[in-house]
Amino acid sequence: STDSDVVRRLESESISKKSLRSSGEKFEFQAEVSRLMDIIINSLYSNKDIFLRELISNASDALDKIRFLALTDKDVLGEGDTAKLEIQIKLDKAKKILSIRDRGIGMTKEDLIKNLGTIAQSGTSVGFYSAYLVADYIEVISKHSDDNQHVWESKADGKFTVSEDTWNEPLGRGTEIRLHLRDDAGGYLEGSKLKDLVKRYSEFINFPIHLWASKE
Ligand code: ADP
Ligand code: MG
Repeated sequence: STDSDVVRRLESESISKKSLRSSGEKFEFQAEVSRLMDIIINSLYSNKDIFLRELISNASDALDKIRFLALTDKDVLGEGDTAKLEIQIKLDKAKKILSIRDRGIGMTKEDLIKNLGTIAQSGTSVGFYSAYLVADYIEVISKHSDDNQHVWESKADGKFTVSEDTWNEPLGRGTEIRLHLRDDAGGYLEGSKLKDLVKRYSEFINFPIHLWASKE
């Protein structure tokens, strides 16, 4: 269709009852995004680990952006801003949630819709969507200084929703990616495996990365 490069807003009645948070605004992925997601999920099965490289690299990019802004605007990262420029990775074994949080630039509601719903350049990079190699449901919580905190969520089934976040803890600034791990991705619940991966992918990252794992 002619509007294939635009995220189409869905009529709420066209969403099935099994949909995500019913209060959220509903969108359909750009067709290319859905195709890319299928390719990723079907062809990269043997190399699932790369999802962590992609998410760490996005977190690092977001931290680079806020650090760059601070060079020209002294109110950015001013004295009152004590949040460290770091990446936090947490493993909740009971809930089977792996989360990656950064204190970077964050995303506004429009950023979430555009950046995670469309492919800007016809690049070949795998990027954010590779997280669906290990997760069947992803929540992206984000706070940018120009907007309130929002939650993007999708089960990679062609649609996503975005809601103003009235229930999670305020991030202050930055992004938290919550991966609800697939049943066949249970290996990542082992702290030692995750630790090795983080070590491997943090080699060229210029920000500290902290890893926490719940006991069970
Ligand atoms: P790329 O990093 O090559 O641009 P990705 O698929 O990895 O592609 O990410 C898509 C976009 O989503 C990024 O360009 C960025 O704008 C946004 N994004 C992803 N993760 C984050 C994050 N942690 N913080 C801020 N923006 C992010
Ligand atoms: Mg990326």
